[in-house]
Amino acid sequence: MATLPLTYKDRDSILREEAKSVDAAWLRSEAGQQLVEDMIETMYHERGVGLAAPQIGESIRLIIVDPGHGRAEVIANPELEILNEKEDVGEEGCLSIPGNWGRVPRAKKLRVTGLDRNGNDISFVVKGFHARVYQHEVDHLNGTLIVDRFLSDD
Ligand SMILES: [Zn+2]
Repeated sequence: MATLPLTYKDRDSILREEAKSVDAAWLRSEAGQQLVEDMIETMYHERGVGLAAPQIGESIRLIIVDPGHGRAEVIANPELEILNEKEDVGEEGCLSIPGNWGRVPRAKKLRVTGLDRNGNDISFVVKGFHARVYQHEVDHLNGTLIVDRFLSDD
């Protein structure tokens, strides 16, 4: 395994691109599995709670999430269905924007649908901080960054 260099907001335009769908056969391949392992190692190395592929220079729809339970969730082509429209406001930072924290409103509960790391269909419900991390990472796949969502201080 290897840690991968991070992309940064002020340097890498890939963070503003719409990422491409992941092919399930590629995900199952040695190259796909290696990228997954390297993203997991990179997320823990950087002490992140999530990592999206554009953050390591790959414009594909692949994310890693661990909201603190010590198990890396790997989802390709994630789709989010909001189950509770009510929003929580919470502090968010981003590995690609060091030192820039702000308040971001996020839906409280959602269903995540996509492919697991072996390319199999998967669907589950997350809420609270867990749901917040999913929304943050899926934003990365659409070229959206937290600075676009920060609430103003007034
Ligand atoms: Zn981020």
